[in-house]
Amino acid sequence: MIKIPKVIDLVVKNDLCIGCGVCVYQCPSNALEMKWNDKGFLIPEISGVCDSDGGCLDVCPFNPIPKKEVTTEDDLADVYLNDATKHHSKIGKYLGIYAGYSNQYRLTSSSGGLATYVFIKLLEENIVDYVFSVKDSTKVGVNYEYSIASTKEELLNASKTRYFPVTLATVLPKINELKGKVAIVGVGCFIKAIRLAQHKNPSLREKIPFLIGIICGGVKSRFFTEYLSGKIDVELENIRKPEFRIKDLNSTASDYSFGCLDEDDGKEKTIKMREVGDMWGTGMFKANACDFCDDVTTELADISIGDAWIHPFNKDGRGTNVLISRTNLSEIIIQDGIKKGDVTIENISLENILMSQQGSFNHRHTALKYRVKRAKKRGFLVPPKRHSNYNITNDFKLVQRYRMKVRSFSLYIWAKNKNSLAFDAAIKRKLSILGYLTYLYQRKKRIIKRIQRK
Ligand SMILES: Cc1cc2nc3c(=O)[nH]c(=O)nc-3n(C[C@H](O)[C@H](O)[C@H](O)COP(=O)(O)OP(=O)(O)OC[C@H]3O[C@@H](n4cnc5c(N)ncnc54)[C@H](O)[C@@H]3O)c2cc1C
Repeated sequence: MIKIPKVIDLVVKNDLCIGCGVCVYQCPSNALEMKWNDKGFLIPEISGVCDSDGGCLDVCPFNPIPKKEVTTEDDLADVYLNDATKHHSKIGKYLGIYAGYSNQYRLTSSSGGLATYVFIKLLEENIVDYVFSVKDSTKVGVNYEYSIASTKEELLNASKTRYFPVTLATVLPKINELKGKVAIVGVGCFIKAIRLAQHKNPSLREKIPFLIGIICGGVKSRFFTEYLSGKIDVELENIRKPEFRIKDLNSTASDYSFGCLDEDDGKEKTIKMREVGDMWGTGMFKANACDFCDDVTTELADISIGDAWIHPFNKDGRGTNVLISRTNLSEIIIQDGIKKGDVTIENISLENILMSQQGSFNHRHTALKYRVKRAKKRGFLVPPKRHSNYNITNDFKLVQRYRMKVRSFSLYIWAKNKNSLAFDAAIKRKLSILGYLTYLYQRKKRIIKRIQRK
């Protein structure tokens, strides 16, 4: 009888796979390979004979039956983030909280450019010899992928946010051939997978001395890129170099555009994201696993970097980062950057960092218990979660239910007919209902707050 790898049996079959591909690295019998599924995500498929050693499951960030000592991000933080002197249940262990930007890389980056700055510093100071980051792919139909950078130029090419599925399986299996140390950038679940891999393979701890965490509000299917390109009349086969965060220096930070090169006529085409509509609060094109992630600020990285979606930083179209340092090395890099005048960074309060990701905390923490309960009731396995003890009001439950519907419907509709006009027409009713339910929920919340203040 053919054995099924545990990660496929327990994670992929429960629609919990996020595509990090660390299972491919861990599999001792090369039985797994990353492939595109019918929802536009990368997932592992069987490509060889499985010996069921189970290692694939041990490194999975959405493993529904994790080992006791590494059950949650808190357990892993206790192992890997011993420098951190402070802790907050919503953002994890930390040393400092900041907002700012790189004076040199801000304009060539998606936000404040601090991710690129930190990587370049790591290389220049010989802390690492390689960086695994995300850049253009030469593969047909694949816009971006993880690749290995060892020069400043390569890192500059890997700047900018790519809301596109990428997998560490393109680089991690090569790590043991590389002489020297490696830093890796990733969203929360990818960083968790690397920590799990370090726990399983202790030599990886020395090999990977630094992790940059990208604060993430949800991983998008490749359908997201296809849909946005359709909105600017670019055919699927002609999409080149999609840019997800084209800044408008005369406007606010959130007023950015999507754009891509149309291979057909060689022209750059763009559209303001505000004309497309809300792609984040609705859950459109998002992976199901993200609804079962409670790590809003990439708690297991040495340094976590996101967008400063708070006043006054959000007024500046050039982009500003929020930053959470969690290890001494990340603190040294920040303080050294300030001293040398490379970066403009200021301390911000805990309240400010919470406010900068308010929507994400509300969805991922406050409403988590409801989604977990619902998934279990339907017979799906779910990983053990923190933050699953809040009870939410019936109106918020309705918002949750419709968000889940919009999420899965968006993937289903686009898979059936990759035409953005037809897609808009098909999803319109569900989006309108979600919009109305969200309006009612937020209005009630505001009224209750006003009454409580009196
Ligand atoms: C899927 C996704 C969701 C996000 N959601 C939020 C959010 O909800 N709130 C928030 O504050 N910030 C979010 N961000 C982060 C934000 O968009 C910026 O990436 C971050 O602020 C760093 O900005 P920067 O200017 O310093 O980065 P840059 O200097 O432009 O460098 C970006 C770095 O990220 C790497 N990268 C690009 N795409 C990916 C990817 N898909 N996976 C892993 N690494 C990648 C690049 O290789 C590069 O090293 C998200 C990013 C992604 C990729």
